[in-house]
Amino acid sequence: MASRPVHLMIVGAHPADVFDQAGGTLAHHIEQGDRVTALIVSTGSRSHDWQNIDEKIRRGGDLDYEQMVAASREKKLAEVQRGCAILGITDIRTLDHDDDMEMLTQELVIEIGEQIREVKPDILITHHPHEDGGYKLHGSVGQAVLYAYRYADGAGRTKTRPHRVRSIYLMNPLVVDHGAGLGSLGTGRVDLFVDITDVIDKKIRAMDCIASQYYGGPYSRKRAEVEDGGMGYHAEVPYAEAFQRFFPWVCYTLPISDFELHKMEETSEETMVRRSCLLAHQVPLPPDSEWPEYSIDKDLYNY
Ligand SMILES: [Zn+2]
Repeated sequence: MASRPVHLMIVGAHPADVFDQAGGTLAHHIEQGDRVTALIVSTGSRSHDWQNIDEKIRRGGDLDYEQMVAASREKKLAEVQRGCAILGITDIRTLDHDDDMEMLTQELVIEIGEQIREVKPDILITHHPHEDGGYKLHGSVGQAVLYAYRYADGAGRTKTRPHRVRSIYLMNPLVVDHGAGLGSLGTGRVDLFVDITDVIDKKIRAMDCIASQYYGGPYSRKRAEVEDGGMGYHAEVPYAEAFQRFFPWVCYTLPISDFELHKMEETSEETMVRRSCLLAHQVPLPPDSEWPEYSIDKDLYNY
């Protein structure tokens, strides 16, 4: 742990990205007195308002979709502000880009770079640049951030003072290798897991705020179990978030945590008790949560 409070800046492609892969970790930093700035590149209103997209599926060309996209911008920003507030994050910025065709461009790099120079973070967190091969927004934003930190280092194009970041973490690096086809470039490797068991309820309640993507309710709990619980399974803790460092860690000695020392002493039973801890389903559903029953229709699988 650093000897002074640090300032973290997370750059996410879509609104919920600023906490869905790292929200528990950010909550820990807030609790220990660090600062967090969340930068959202896109509004998410065109591709990530699934309620609106469903409406277009139901009504086709009969509706003014551009008006719905404009209205969605405010709705999605309000959702993410509520979610971030639960985690203690209040400094939320958006670049307000449209969100379905974002590519790696010089303009995007400069915009993010100028934000880095203004915020002056100690730690940057973003998407893995090879997520889905870099051909969709997560990968494009991850790549833009990795150019932008270099832009922020240098003279730049404005009068803002250069700012050097030497601690960059890539979120959920395993998603690179879980992707299909070109997404599997073999570069994703988990360097560290953050145990978020003590804040998994906060993270679930933050996810509940993203109603435009039907996250509120059972999905948030299921997702916490399979995603954060899945990372936890590998880390041998109940719930975890995974990161890959962009730069190697420079230390005076080899780092080892008390958790690693503790694990050497514990019994297999103690390990299994910890790994089997189920918390997500115990977080109460939002009061207005309505979710239809689902049962598998095996006839759909006939071929
Ligand atoms: Zn996203």
